[in-house]
Order: sequence, then C-alpha cells, then structure tokens
Amino acid sequence: MIREKTESYRLHREGERQYLTFPQLDDYEELRHLFTTRHGGVSQGPCATWNFGERHLDTDENILQNFELLGQVLGADTDQMVTSAQTHTTNIKVVTAADLGKGVVRERDYRDIDGLVTDERNLTIITGHADCNAIFFFDPVRQVIGLAHSGWRGTLAGIGTAMVSKMKTEYGCQLSDIITGIGPSLCQDCFEVDEDVAQAFFDADEAYRQFADRRGCKFHIDLKGIIHHDLLAAGLAEGNLSDMELCTKCNKEMFFSHRGHQGRRGLMVAAMMLV
Ligand SMILES: [Zn+2]
Repeated sequence: MIREKTESYRLHREGERQYLTFPQLDDYEELRHLFTTRHGGVSQGPCATWNFGERHLDTDENILQNFELLGQVLGADTDQMVTSAQTHTTNIKVVTAADLGKGVVRERDYRDIDGLVTDERNLTIITGHADCNAIFFFDPVRQVIGLAHSGWRGTLAGIGTAMVSKMKTEYGCQLSDIITGIGPSLCQDCFEVDEDVAQAFFDADEAYRQFADRRGCKFHIDLKGIIHHDLLAAGLAEGNLSDMELCTKCNKEMFFSHRGHQGRRGLMVAAMMLV
C-alpha cells in the first residue's frame, strides 16, 4: 500500500492520474519534475494505462496520447519534449532547442543515449523506466537539469558519476550544489542475480561487497546503495541525495515492473523541465 506522502516522495492524484515527486525538489518554482505510475493514461492490456513505450504491446496513437497527458501535468506540448534512446550505456546527451520533439513527435537522430542534460527552459527531458533506476539531477545555482537511466549495467558502468562530470565540464556546476533523487526501482530483495553479475560488481569495486547479500547460490544487490555510494565518492553532499524508497516489483499494482510482470508491461517515465 502506497501512502500519499512521506519524507521521500509525494503521490499526486488528479482523477485517474497518479504521479510522484520528490519533496526536496517541489520547493523550486522554476523546476517541474515527476515520475509517472501505471495510472492515468489510455492504454489497454499489459500496458494499461499510462504507457510511454513498448510499441509491440501498444498502439502509436495511445502512446502519443499518453505523452499529451504527461504534457498536461507539466504544462508542456509534445513538441517541447525530448526522450533518451536507452541501451544501458553511460552516454549523456546535451539537449538543446534543436532537439525539441525528438522521440515523441519527431524521429531521433541519435542512439545509445542513457542520460539527458540541459540548461534550456521550456524543454522537457524524459527517460523511460520499468524497474531500472531513474536518477534525477538538479543544480539550482547554475539552473541545470539531468536525468539518467541507471539499470544494473548503467550502475556498474557509472552513469551517475558520468552525469556529475558532464554537469561540471559542460555547465560549470559545483559539486556541493547538485541535488539528486532516485525514482521507484527494484529493492534489494527484488534484485536477485547470479554470481557472474555480482562478481562483475566486486571486480569493479571491492567496496560494492557491502551492497550485496548472498542467499544460497544467488546474490541480492542494493543498486540504490551503490548509486549513492558512487555519488558521494564523486563529491556530492550526503544531504543532497534522496531516494523515493519505492520498489516497482513490490508495488506492481502501482508501477510497471519488468520482473514483476514477467516482461509483459508498459514503460513509465521520469520527466524534468525548467520553466
Ligand atoms: Zn521489492
């Protein structure tokens, strides 16, 4: 059962539509941000109802309409939106007005992009999720927003720290100013892997052993713990890191969960915009 409000998230209900925000980011008037749930769109079947991807299980018309409904919440048109092209890389795209509408109402002219960053206003950046972590980044001083898709491969490869580096080099962000949040994703109990995946983490950093729990021949890994460990190691302030503390698989009536729905599921989004 998901509560309406905790220290970690706020659940917003507008009719059938339900979405989440971070209390830590809600106070910034110039920032709009959210993470969607399953509820509030027009799709049917395994994608019911607010689906933003999985075109083999849904229609293009439904998906476009779901983006229009997202735009109603954010105060944005679909031609102000830009989506990632996720393939579990650490590639981050600097998004500008030249990209408006790409992935929603225009073809993308890029691929293998798991992170989006911008300082331009009235431009909505969007990443897709169904168990994988969404990492939200905001620098209120330099007025920069970023979103990263960080599943286990992206987490292992370090997309979180890649975003921090990009914000520093591209926009001159100070580490102490950057605020981050992790959206709904698998909890440690629900992220079970074989030894080869666990070993890949240990090979990358011995410190990751503290985030792994061996249960029989399987391992359970706390990906959110690893993301926060890496962001702290990159120099971010502990008080600036937050996490909605919601598991997609434990709450599969609320969220699309790749593991919880055995792959037959829709796709949710993280979205951010400076206004
Ligand atoms: Zn769980």
